[in-house]
Amino acid sequence: MMQIQITCGQCGSGVTVLPSVKATAAKCDVCQHITPLKFDENHERSHLEDCPVCSRKDFYQQKDFNRIIGATLFIIAACLVPWTYGLSLLALYLLDVFLFRRLSQIAICYKCKTIFRSVANISNIPGYDHEMNDRIVYSDHDFKGKPLSH
Ligand SMILES: [Zn+2]
Ligand SMILES: [Zn+2]
Repeated sequence: MMQIQITCGQCGSGVTVLPSVKATAAKCDVCQHITPLKFDENHERSHLEDCPVCSRKDFYQQKDFNRIIGATLFIIAACLVPWTYGLSLLALYLLDVFLFRRLSQIAICYKCKTIFRSVANISNIPGYDHEMNDRIVYSDHDFKGKPLSH
């Protein structure tokens, strides 16, 4: 089933919810802030069309991979280069190929940064587009699910 991770508008904590037409709000465990939600039957069958938080249709997909861990591993590998004759970087490369490439793809809402895991139609969701992000975030443009064609 699709898992949805909302960012609490008040304290910034992650709030995880499962889609259900009956669920109309999610409460933050940290600050008790209530986020209204709008689920439909698409969400219940793990199909992502509309954002349940902001009702937008613009999402991008990316690897479900913690960038901080990745950057830390790279720094460690780079520091070890003098002792390993560069083999630490090779090991990191192999780790990336065999471990991180297998991690699942997630979808993210451009507008409200809600994260969607286990999305059935993930292959239909395009990758991150910098221009779309800028126009949605800074000029509040609504692409209505139609990505820019370059
Ligand atoms: Zn909160
Ligand atoms: Zn959203």
